[in-house]
Amino acid sequence: MKVLDLSCEQGHLFEGWFGSDADFQSQLSRALIDCPMCGSQQIQKRLSAPRLNLGKSGAAASLPTGPAPSTPGLAATPAEQQAKALRLLRQVLAQTEDVGEQFSQQALQMHQGELEPRPIRGQTTADQAVELIEAGVPIVPLPNLPLLKQTLQ
Ligand SMILES: [Zn+2]
Repeated sequence: MKVLDLSCEQGHLFEGWFGSDADFQSQLSRALIDCPMCGSQQIQKRLSAPRLNLGKSGAAASLPTGPAPSTPGLAATPAEQQAKALRLLRQVLAQTEDVGEQFSQQALQMHQGELEPRPIRGQTTADQAVELIEAGVPIVPLPNLPLLKQTLQ
């Protein structure tokens, strides 16, 4: 998973998570990326180097009752990662409840048996994501796709 710093024509800065640079270019050319602040599709990649770690914040999902997804493996090819991400995304949208900023707390409580396990998705900060991963909670970053927003309607 690659985190790219993006900006729209109005200068809003945001991050996009992609399988690779080629994945980003492909999504960009198909107008699949838009600014989360204003919806503009005039998106540019900022000049800073892409990072291979978690961003400042991003969407994540925990699927404790589903077929256990693992965090993206560094050994997987971009094609495999993409296929996996798409498969996972469909699964996530069909099976998860959006708990928003409660994600980190609820995922941890489920992992510790304080809450009935159920598939959830939501937002997490990089620090929270690291905490969850270190605690052994199965979470996966979700790509920033319009599909995700459609489920909110
Ligand atoms: Zn914008």
